[in-house]
Amino acid sequence: MGVSRRVLVAGAVGALVVPPVPSGRTIVSCAEWGARPPVEPPAVVGRRPTRVLVHHTATENAADRSVAHAHRLARFFQDVHIGRDWGDTGQHFTITRGAHVLEGRHGSLAALRAGDHLVEGAHCPGQNRTSIGVENEGTYTAELPPDEQWDALVWLCATVCRQYGIPPSEIHGHRDHYADTVCPGDALHARLPALRAEVALR
Ligand SMILES: [Zn+2]
Repeated sequence: MGVSRRVLVAGAVGALVVPPVPSGRTIVSCAEWGARPPVEPPAVVGRRPTRVLVHHTATENAADRSVAHAHRLARFFQDVHIGRDWGDTGQHFTITRGAHVLEGRHGSLAALRAGDHLVEGAHCPGQNRTSIGVENEGTYTAELPPDEQWDALVWLCATVCRQYGIPPSEIHGHRDHYADTVCPGDALHARLPALRAEVALR
């Protein structure tokens, strides 16, 4: 029955549908991608987050899908965000076009594993103590993420929703909560209903 329902939904969302997540997908920790220490340890919010906010990085739609590129990108954003006085990487997690999933802000991965708290983010004013921020490498105003990146996004959202008890209906776009941005881009924003549906199936 699960299979037939999945096929039905797969037909509805077309080419973006991906097979079940392969076992072994992991989140690359700050230590693994070579983060530097945060300027100050991110504040701990002692309750569960209630929402996931999807972002795009508004950087180039890079062809490089390698691990080395993913680690460089993570270090790049940490530097940029510390330069903005955010103390550390702003978002909790980052997904590259090569489908590498990386911890952003220090403490985000341990918090997710515990499932009972979050670290205060710096990804959306007014949402940083209630929402998990997920950055997707690329610019998705007109283009869509590659299938493998989409699959990683579904997997990460499903993992976050399960660990924290967040309903998939609470997966939103950055711009749904902040007027002064087009993030995560028109194309990706239009796919959020499909994202919620796929996460619900997981
Ligand atoms: Zn954003």
